[in-house]
Amino acid sequence: MMIVMKAGATEEQVKHVVERLEKAGLGAHLSQGEFKTVIGVIGDREKIADLPLAVAPGVENVIPIQKPYKFVSREFRAEDTVIEVKGSKIGGGHFAVIAGPCSVETEEQMAKVAEHVKKAGATFLRGGAFKPRSSPYSFQGLGMDGLKLLAQAGERVGLPIVTELLDVRDLDAVAEYADVIQIGTRNMQNFVLLLEAGSAGKPVILKRGFGATVEETLMAAEYVVKGGSSQVILCERGIRTFENSTRNTLDLSMIPIATRNSHLPVIVDPSHGTGKNYLVAPMSLAALAAGAAGVMVEVHPCPEEAWCDGPQSLDLESFSDLMAKIRPMAAVLEREI
Ligand code: PEP
Ligand code: MN
Repeated sequence: MMIVMKAGATEEQVKHVVERLEKAGLGAHLSQGEFKTVIGVIGDREKIADLPLAVAPGVENVIPIQKPYKFVSREFRAEDTVIEVKGSKIGGGHFAVIAGPCSVETEEQMAKVAEHVKKAGATFLRGGAFKPRSSPYSFQGLGMDGLKLLAQAGERVGLPIVTELLDVRDLDAVAEYADVIQIGTRNMQNFVLLLEAGSAGKPVILKRGFGATVEETLMAAEYVVKGGSSQVILCERGIRTFENSTRNTLDLSMIPIATRNSHLPVIVDPSHGTGKNYLVAPMSLAALAAGAAGVMVEVHPCPEEAWCDGPQSLDLESFSDLMAKIRPMAAVLEREI
């Protein structure tokens, strides 16, 4: 259950409601919005239902929420969350195109890719500086130098940047440079990292764990919101199944399921979701058709020479071709890029 306090509710009124909850053996989680305080009630459903808090002073509304996730649920907020960064929007009919290499390699690589994807119509630039690699012997990313190169390239072409936060110890550095913080699939249930990412004051892209259900993904998003950010973007990036003709199995059904149950925008990463460059365009279009709020696509000036994930990266020309297909389809579906 969520208790929405009136815009002018006093601190005493909020305290009074919290005390009533605590006296009844229930937990209270406070979320201080710009105008209103919302109290999430945690505990036994029957006990909650027995409390007549709708008539307590300062209370505007009591919303029963049946789902285990609260703040990210549709029941809590009926309208789509729209996230806007430096003029680029995600959600609520806006289709974001996040493009760039798997990892930041050199200044020249970033300059080339940034200039091209911007010209072709991308709305965000991506690039990994801290890379979560399966092998400790693989390239781990350029770290701080990579962050700087990414930020420089984004600034030069006027695109907001997305990059992964791998470790809480890098939070300040990543938050200083990134416009959007990405949490990777391997960290989807790193709850401390989720809370910290939520506290950074930046939108967070939360990638679905490759072994996680949609509900577990929404619970992870709830952690980010609990950490302090309501600006969360869910990202389907493929899950592990028995199918081995693709790197992962892209679960496009997550889009309508998560969108039905949550107000958060859902984007799709067909690059990691398939692992194959020729599947990126058809899966991007399918994601758009299924209601995704955007796609995140790996693009490299020369995939053959990429330091990471070359086989799933589009070259510059293929990215332009993809944009040429996305544009008319988005127009038919009344989505804005
Ligand atoms: C990435 O986007 O660079 C990445 C590592 O993705 P994932 O966490 O989905 O594997
Ligand atoms: Mn990658």
